[in-house]
Formats: sequence, C-alpha cells, structure tokens
Amino acid sequence: MTQAASTALHWQQRWERSIMSNYSTPPIMLARGEGSRLWDAQGREYVDLIAGIAVNALGHAHPRLTDAICSQLATLGHTSNLYATAPAMELAERLLQLADAPEGSRVFFCNSGAEANEAAFKLTRLTGRPEVIVAGNGFHGRTMGALALTAQPKKQEPFRPLPGQVRVVPYGDAGALEAAVGPTTAAVLLEPIQGEGGVIVPPDGYLARARAVCDQAGALLLVDEVQTGIGRTGTWFGFQHELAAGPAGWVGPDVITLAKGLGGGLPIGAVIGTGASGTAFTPGMHGSTFGGNPVAAAAAHAVLDVIAEEGLMLRSVDLHRRLAPALIEASGGLAAGVRGRGLLLAVELDGEVSTELERQCREHGLLVNAVTATAIRLAPALTITDLDVDCALERWHLACTALARGRVPA
Ligand SMILES: *Cc1c(COP(=O)(O)O)cnc(C)c1O
Repeated sequence: MTQAASTALHWQQRWERSIMSNYSTPPIMLARGEGSRLWDAQGREYVDLIAGIAVNALGHAHPRLTDAICSQLATLGHTSNLYATAPAMELAERLLQLADAPEGSRVFFCNSGAEANEAAFKLTRLTGRPEVIVAGNGFHGRTMGALALTAQPKKQEPFRPLPGQVRVVPYGDAGALEAAVGPTTAAVLLEPIQGEGGVIVPPDGYLARARAVCDQAGALLLVDEVQTGIGRTGTWFGFQHELAAGPAGWVGPDVITLAKGLGGGLPIGAVIGTGASGTAFTPGMHGSTFGGNPVAAAAAHAVLDVIAEEGLMLRSVDLHRRLAPALIEASGGLAAGVRGRGLLLAVELDGEVSTELERQCREHGLLVNAVTATAIRLAPALTITDLDVDCALERWHLACTALARGRVPA
C-alpha cells in the first residue's frame, strides 16, 4: 500500500493493518498528556485513572521527569554494560536502600517486568532445586519463562510446552502454600497484591507466612513488585506492609522484581537480589544490552525524588481513604465494594458490566480499566490532584448513571 492510500484509511484500520493482532484494536488514539489529563487525536480530554497501567507515577509530561530524561540524553544516552555509568550505579544503591536490603544485596537492571521475572526465574535454577511454586491467577509477564510462571490457563495453553517445573497453589491460602513447599522447592513467587488478577489483596499475614514457610524449607521467596512497587500502595514496596527488617535482621524477600512505575514511563525493570541471591550470578550468566540505560535510570531517579519530596506515598494512602467510599457513593448502587491498597484499587461491580462501564467512562471523559468481567481497576498517577479526583468522581457518577439507565431491569 502506498503512503497516500494508507493515510486515507481510518486510523483503526491502519492500526489493524500494521500492528500484530495480539492486542484488540484500541478505542481511542491519544495524542498528548499533562498531569492526569490526556487528549485524544480529536482533541477530546480525559481524566486518566489508569496511568499507563500503574506506570506514569508522576502523570504525563512531568517537568522533573522530562528534564531528567532530556538532560541525561543530551549528556550520555547509552553505553551498554561494557562500561559503568553513574545513573545506573546510583539507582542500584538507592533501590537497595529503599528496600532496606541487607549487606551483600545487589541489583540487576533490565527493561520490563517480564524480563525482571525471567532473571529471577534463572536465579532459581542456581539453587540446584527444580521447582517453582506460584499462585493461581497470578501475572508475571508474557515471555516464555514469565508465562510459565503465570498461572492463567488461557494465556498459557497455546504456547505449551513452557519451561520449568511450576506448581500452582491458590493465592492467599497460606496452608496450601505450606503443604506444597518442600525439599525440591527452589522458590515461591508471589505478588503482594495480584494486579492483573483483579487487584486481589491476600489475607493479613500471608507474605509473612510465606517467608516463614520458605525459610523452613530452604526455598527462596520471590516477590513480584512490578505493579505494587515504587510507592503505589503507600510504601516503597508492597511487601513492606508485612515484611520489614526487625531486631532479628532481614526478613524480606530473597528476590524483588520491579518495572512499571520505576521509570515513570521509560522502559526499565530491576531485580533486587538480597543476601546470597544478590551474588548468585557470576560474569556471563545473564545480561541485557539496554539494562541500566542511563536515560531510563535518570528517569527512575526523578520518579524516586518526586515521590520522596512530595510525600506521595502518604498521599496515596489518604487518597485511597477518600476514593473508596466516594466511588461506591457515586456509583448509584452499581459498585458492590472497593478493594486494594493506596492507589491500586478495584471497584467490584454488581454484575458482569465492567467492559460496558469502561466504555461509558471513556465516553464521559474518564479512563479506567476493566480488569475482570466484574471489576474496574484504578491506578492513577501518584501526583493526581484533588481537582482531578473531584472531576474523575463526577464523570464516574455520570458513567455509572448512564450504564444503569441502559440496563434492562431484572
Ligand atoms: C505488568 C506486570 C508484569 C509484566 O510486565 P511487562 O513490563 O509488561 O513485561 C509482571 N508482573 C506483574 C505483577 C505485572 O503487573
């Protein structure tokens, strides 16, 4: 097709003719963003409550982030890991500090959540034990290794055989985990809150029990903080709600994986290996050409700076307290409950109407995500203003009302 013929088509047709069909065709094409507002190609404005799936922690076009990126790019944009750069090294030091990781802990940088979990998966092989235990309906990424760890049959079936010996236990059930972990268990991999699974918060004490069970069996505890990490749930890492260094020393995970919010929109992933897991790889065992890229690292520094300076973790807890009742109140009876922590929330709906509600929200200028058939996920920028929250709640109310009007009474 010639360029001229191609531009005569609607953008959705051009998308379908050029982008692989692993994604469904997007309903809108976005052109510009500022803070928690986005504008589409037609100039329609939206309040963004999904923030690139928990990625745009500072919202869109934050001046601190764009300045950090531009000045690093104008100074030194890429080197590979043949050479050291200060932004990557200092980011590693900073992440170790934020995790309160013990002496001997180390960081590996990559470019995405799936890559972080791939590296963690490889680390488990070095234990000499074969089996990894994961939770049902978890999500750890789409590459072959990460997919093997993602216990969702619909995502896995077309791609079998998948690597590794992976055993699945129900999420949140400490007893089932305890029964499954044994002398052949290399590692247990868990999300502190299941994000893609529907923002599922496990019972209190679940991670602490998992830590104890792993210690007893000599297995590693891997915590996937790709969605929950970097301030989203009110602490730097989701595990810190339950696991913290006490007088007896480190009781955190052996391995922590990060991505999404870390770069505020630039692709970066990280693996924190604590204690012996930090030094298990020897030269040549793993690597990434782009991993630790100074521009992505500079972006992460800006994200961490702004979260710390502006107290955004406390704010995410406050906003949760405000949003949870307000979302139910404004839903006109459509919302049955709100779950989550900090600014990772899901509204459970009365019926399988999430796709329709997501559409109604969009038509009323509000971007949310139908994470399950019955739940809407919200993961706004940590910088979202009170004004934008007010506006979002107004639009939410209008969308819920419009949906209720269109529903046939039972
Ligand atoms: C998004 C996500 C991933 C995968 O991250 P990608 O950057 O898309 O590869 C892995 N784990 C969790 C918990 C996630 O939410």
